[in-house]
Amino acid sequence: MEEYPLTVQSRSVVRVRVPAKINLHLGVGPLRDDNFHDLATVFHAVSLSDELTLEPGPPGVRLILDEPAVDLSAEGAPTDGIRTDGVPTDARNLAVRALYALADAAKVEPAVTIRLRKGIPVAGGMAGGSADAAAALVAGDALWNLATPAERLHTIAADLGSDVPFALHGGDALGTGRGERLTPLTHPYRRHWVLAVAGKGLSTPAVYAETDRLRGTDADASDPAAVIKALDDPDPAALADALCNDLQAATLSLRPELADVLTAGTAAGALAGIVSGSGPTCAFLAVDADHSAQIADRLRAAAVPGVSAVLVAHGSVDGARLTVED
Ligand code: ATP
Repeated sequence: MEEYPLTVQSRSVVRVRVPAKINLHLGVGPLRDDNFHDLATVFHAVSLSDELTLEPGPPGVRLILDEPAVDLSAEGAPTDGIRTDGVPTDARNLAVRALYALADAAKVEPAVTIRLRKGIPVAGGMAGGSADAAAALVAGDALWNLATPAERLHTIAADLGSDVPFALHGGDALGTGRGERLTPLTHPYRRHWVLAVAGKGLSTPAVYAETDRLRGTDADASDPAAVIKALDDPDPAALADALCNDLQAATLSLRPELADVLTAGTAAGALAGIVSGSGPTCAFLAVDADHSAQIADRLRAAAVPGVSAVLVAHGSVDGARLTVED
């Protein structure tokens, strides 16, 4: 068995907050030989977050799932609708996998306990599991005093999942390859969103498979240029016109009632609505913060079947960041 050197743990607890993402553009290209699709996507990190706390524990990596909390939704909306019953607490959890991967790369013997509080809908198309993997990498790096170079952390993140590198970086970024190759997109504008969270999640592989069934496996990805241009426009109406998701048809095919959610959002005054990633969360663009609060109130009052929570968020925000270290 390989011997690990002893590590100095000068910190006793670290806490990381990590955002959800929506895809302002999700262009899905041909199915590759490795079974991933080539993507051309514009990621946008939003102010709905998970919180991961890491502290020394018994040998191995243990995960305790805490109750979702109100304050993880940036605007303080209740997160009662966030169900955590589908989240594994064993080695299938992406945060646990991330810590084993980091420990392995750094030759550290892991002996830690993770406490995870979800504010990001589970299986909601907002990359919550990937966010937790990114949070675990940042937390493990801090707890173990590794000072891992950013490029190295990015490589470990990409091995864990296509959306993990973006959760490390946050902001807005063009993602190519299977989404792991990032080009930051900088602009000064804050965007305001209303998120309609579904009570029941959707499987991402099932949505990709349905996309392949509907349009074949060699369709080209739609072009993200319009969204990239609209990000530089102060008028949110330009972004509303450009939003695009190549997975949306498949998501609606698997979950036809989402069409009613999208209709309800625009009837409530949103500039536009789009399915977030592989769904079923629907994201609605508002003009400003007051407008998003107004849309959310109307959408809650509409009590659309299948919608378990209506949340307000803004973007873009930073990626996984330390909030506490002792
Ligand atoms: P995608 O990144 O594919 O868009 P998603 O946002 O739709 O994913 P996630 O919340 O990441 O969905 O979870 C998908 C599945 O991954 C869950 O149903 C659960 O079984 C598993 N999972 C593993 N780790 C986690 C985690 N830390 N949080 C949530 N789900 C996790």
